[in-house]
Amino acid sequence: MQIRYKIALQFTLIVLAILLVFSGIVYYRAESQRRTSFYDRLSRRAKTTARLLVDVKEFNTTLLKLIDKNSSSRLPEEEIFIYDYRNLLLYSNIEKVSPYVTQERINEVRLAQEIKFQYEGRAVIGLVFEGRYDRFVLIASAIDKNGKLQLKELIITLLFAFLGGILTTVGLALFFAHQSLRPISTINREIGEITAKNLRKRIHQGNEKDEIAQLAINFNLMLERLELAFTQQRQFVSHASHELRTPLSALKTEIQIGLSSLNSPEEHHQILQNLLKDTDRLIELSNGLLQLARINETPEELIFDKVRMEEVLLNAQREVVASHSDYQIQFDFDQIPEEDHLTLVMGNEALLKNVFVNLLENACKYTPNHQASLRLGFDAEWCLVRVIDQGIGISKQDLPNIFQPFYRAKNAIDYHGFGIGLSVVKRIVELHEGQLEVKSRPHLGTEFMVRLKHLKEESARDFIR
Ligand code: ADP
Repeated sequence: MQIRYKIALQFTLIVLAILLVFSGIVYYRAESQRRTSFYDRLSRRAKTTARLLVDVKEFNTTLLKLIDKNSSSRLPEEEIFIYDYRNLLLYSNIEKVSPYVTQERINEVRLAQEIKFQYEGRAVIGLVFEGRYDRFVLIASAIDKNGKLQLKELIITLLFAFLGGILTTVGLALFFAHQSLRPISTINREIGEITAKNLRKRIHQGNEKDEIAQLAINFNLMLERLELAFTQQRQFVSHASHELRTPLSALKTEIQIGLSSLNSPEEHHQILQNLLKDTDRLIELSNGLLQLARINETPEELIFDKVRMEEVLLNAQREVVASHSDYQIQFDFDQIPEEDHLTLVMGNEALLKNVFVNLLENACKYTPNHQASLRLGFDAEWCLVRVIDQGIGISKQDLPNIFQPFYRAKNAIDYHGFGIGLSVVKRIVELHEGQLEVKSRPHLGTEFMVRLKHLKEESARDFIR
């Protein structure tokens, strides 16, 4: 069922329930008022008759019957019976005693002082009347024709009001549901027109205030993120294929030279050496690409644990020096931490090591004497790691771009590299909700600073090493 019909139906059901309750209350009140006032009139009629009969000497039953018959306050089909203290009938305005008047009933009236009941459509009241010299039992009954007629009319009025109310409600509910859901239909249609090829298209944001407009705004934001992701993906693929093409062409040339039979055994050996070097570069490049692709993919699967920064940095330093025997890294503490938690961070140890291996390798690579220094410090909130070198530096124009995948500064062209490392570093720091800064001056050197939130004292307590 369409939402608009569902809303209209629910709304109508609610109004229907309210109208039913309302009509029920009106009917119940009218009916009980009718009964009360009719019983009052009946009781007054019976008492007046009794008073005339018992207390006024001049009245006898024949006169009373005559007056009773012609009285304007006589009720429809009125019957009045008056009994004395021995339960003997003193007076009756009709010939025969009605079947609802029995000795038991009379006794019941004496006990209860007053009883009311319905008998075959008549309202019957029985009450005790205190005369001047005696106590009498009055039993009177009549049919409330007028009251019942009025009640019937009330029911008809209520029924019409009820039907009219329901019809109006259905109409209004359909109209308003249609009106309020119209923007959704528009959004729906516009979304249907968006495909992977026209991600640039945005949907109409309406008044930019209500919930539906908020939905459109959020949807547009999502489209923006998707478009960015698609563009990055496309750029990644085109950069990656471009980067792969260069070493592959070099490999092809080497193989072609190797295939010509004119080469001496020494030259063959050299060609094989070159092939090995190019293959290593290719492996390095594909590893870098894989890393970049993975780190952008599913960060939810990453396992975070308490990590001691000194250990991460020492391991990174060892790894860099082990693979480049000419690199020298000096590791210093800016301050010696007195408390353990100041250098403990929540993170993924392997990824954090990767950050510092990348930064240290760059620092040594882009410095002619391959020396760099690594510093660890902290403040109230952050654990601060600085990787400093006095190498070729980065120009002002290049600085904002070095974290883009595949970007390499002009002065780095003569150095081996693919422009992948820093974008991986940036992403890992982001995943750790840390901060990454760089300061550099061409020919003087570069400083990368990584800030990672250290643990609070309480949360570091259960860390056992
Ligand atoms: P790669 O070093 O493989 O080129 P990176 O992503 O690690 O790729 O670095 C991107 C670019 O940033 C480098 O090409 C270089 O221009 C610049 N760069 C990074 N670190 C340094 C540094 N310590 N000194 C000078 N330039 C640097």
